[in-house]
Formats: sequence, structure tokens, C-alpha cells
Amino acid sequence: MSELQEKLKQLETACTHPRQQLDAYLKAGKKVIGCFPEFTPEELVHASGIIPMGLWGGNITPSLAKSYLPPFACPLMQSNMEFGLKGTYKGLSAAIIPTLCDTLRCMTQDWRFGVTSIPMIPIVYPQNRTAPAAVDYLVDEFETVLTIIATVTGEMMTEQALCDTIQIYNEHNAIMREFAKTANNHLDIITPKVRHYVMKSSYFFEKAEHTAIVKEIIDELNQLPAYQYTGKRILLTGVTCEPDEVLDLFKENEMAVVYDDLMQESQQFRTDTPLHGGGGIKRLALQWMDRYGCSLLHEDGKPRGAMLIKMCKENQVDGVINCMMKFCDPEEYDQPYLEKDLQGAGIPVTDLSIDQQKDSIEQLRTRIEAFREML
Ligand code: SF4
Repeated sequence: MSELQEKLKQLETACTHPRQQLDAYLKAGKKVIGCFPEFTPEELVHASGIIPMGLWGGNITPSLAKSYLPPFACPLMQSNMEFGLKGTYKGLSAAIIPTLCDTLRCMTQDWRFGVTSIPMIPIVYPQNRTAPAAVDYLVDEFETVLTIIATVTGEMMTEQALCDTIQIYNEHNAIMREFAKTANNHLDIITPKVRHYVMKSSYFFEKAEHTAIVKEIIDELNQLPAYQYTGKRILLTGVTCEPDEVLDLFKENEMAVVYDDLMQESQQFRTDTPLHGGGGIKRLALQWMDRYGCSLLHEDGKPRGAMLIKMCKENQVDGVINCMMKFCDPEEYDQPYLEKDLQGAGIPVTDLSIDQQKDSIEQLRTRIEAFREML
């Protein structure tokens, strides 16, 4: 196996076997804190000397979770609750839950009572991000999170550690953005599934470690001649595009993912923490104020559609797939606006119902094939 294939396989394995990755860190004497979707401030965990690990559910049929969550809770939280109740996350020192939607707000209480072996740390982000008090409020929230994390480590994170972490995270953001660009010259190797694994795997590695692996992948790709892709170029938007088999359907239909606006993928890399503007905690709070184009942010005028149109033009996109997480209210509110904007700009768009627990993807197959014919 070539070095490039070995690195790609390593990232794939982390995504398909995250428990293995957790065990490896625990065996190495590290503490690990679980980070719920979406936008948990991993930096606070990392700067405290703990490995932040993403909790992105998985393909499991909920049974125990049904006692805590209504059937119309999103599949992502159904599976996280089920894994928590079944003990799959055993070994985590805590789990941080950002209360960015109604389901996440319920999850904080469900987790507190259902998964008593893993302490839960809630974080409430300000939604009125233009109010002057929003930054002060968020600094206060971050300090509360840090105080609870300190009960795990026994010591308080230092300012220097946070500054170093911010640098590591900004470098990681930059390398992931570079990967997204480089990948488009090698769409024969970086298929939709491979691209997804590279993006998602960042949740399962210490960030500097992940940066080093992705850098090597980019270097290897850059040594290869650019591939002239003749299929259709698509952009994904939404929370996630899983189960992974959906990505195979794109490949089967000669469609390549050339850009994404998924919360699980590029959204995590697009907003750096500012280098100036105060101490580390304040700058992290400013990063939240700088975020844009996401259904979980309050933004006047619904600018996500215009942002997607710009992304489509910059990446010669043939069509957009809106990955609609089942029962996700925030995404459902955005859907009519962004699809109308895209259609108004003459960009074909369709939506796919995303459910990690789906046994059959045949309906999605039909939908993807029909969309391919439109492009
Ligand atoms: S934002 Fe949507 S996908 Fe995420 S936790 Fe809330 S309902 Fe689930």
C-alpha cells in the first residue's frame, strides 16, 4: 500500500472505529472528553491537556434512548443517547453539550439523569451576537466550562496553553482548507467517501497529530498529476451526509463533492480564532461572533443562500445537495430560503433525508439518480 493510501486508511479507520481511537488515547494515559455536535469549544479541552473527541452518533437502532427522547428527536441525538446509555462511551471523563437547538437542550437533562457515569458540561452560546454584552456573556460561559474541566484535571488551564492551542487549531483549519482545494485536483483518489473520512477524522485525533497526517496527504497528492474529472461537481450543505453508503451513491452516479458546507465537515474549519483582541478566552468568544452561514446562528436576512451561491461559483459547482437531517428544526427553517435563493440563481438543488439509522438507502438512490439526470 502506498504511503498516501496508508494515511487515508488511517483516517478512515478512525472514523469507522472511533472506540479504538478512544481506547488508544486512554491506554496512553490521556484523559478524553466527549464533544457533542455542534461547535463545542474543543480548544478549552485541548488547552486543559485533555483529548477532545467528537461524538457524532452512528448506525444503531435506539431502544434504551426511547425512554428519554421522543421519536421525533434527530437520529444523531438518538444514537448519542443510546451509546451513552449502553456504555459505549465508557472512559470519557466528561461530555460537553452545546445547547444550540431544542433537542440539544433536552439532551443536557437526559444525559444528566441517564448517563450518570459521565459528567455533563452544558454550554449556552449567545444568539444575539451583535449585543455588546454577548462577548462578556460567552467569556463567562467558557470560564464556567473551564472550572468544571479543572475538576477532571485537578488544575486550571493556563493562558499560555490556550494561546498555543488556538495556534494549533488555526493551523489545522488552514491545512483542512488547503486539503479541500487540493482534493479537487485528484477527484479520482479523493472520492466523496474518502473526502468525508479526511474531514470527519479530525474529531478523533489530537489536532496537531491530525494536521501532520493531512499535511502528508496533501504533499503526496501534490506529487501526482492533476486528474481531469469529467463527472458532475456537487456541493453538500447541512449537518452531515451519512450513512457513508450515501457517498458511494454519488460516486456510482459520477458525481464528486468539490465543496461542502456541512457542520460536521468544512464548517468546523472556516472560522479562525482572531490573533488579536484580548486574551485567549475572549478571542475564542470573538470567533463565535465571526461565524456565519449556519442554521444554528441567528443571522438577519437569511444570508446562507447567497453564501452558497458564492461557493458554487468559486468551485464550478453543477448542483447542490441539501442534506436534511431528519427532524432537525433549525435546518428545516433554513431550507425554503436557501433553496429559493439557489433556484433563483439557476443552480439545481435537491434535498436528501439524512438518517444515520437508515437500513435501506434505496429511496436515496432513486433521488440521487433523478438529480443526476437534471444536471
Ligand atoms: S441541530 Fe439538528 S442535528 Fe444538530 S442536534 Fe439539533 S436537531 Fe440534531
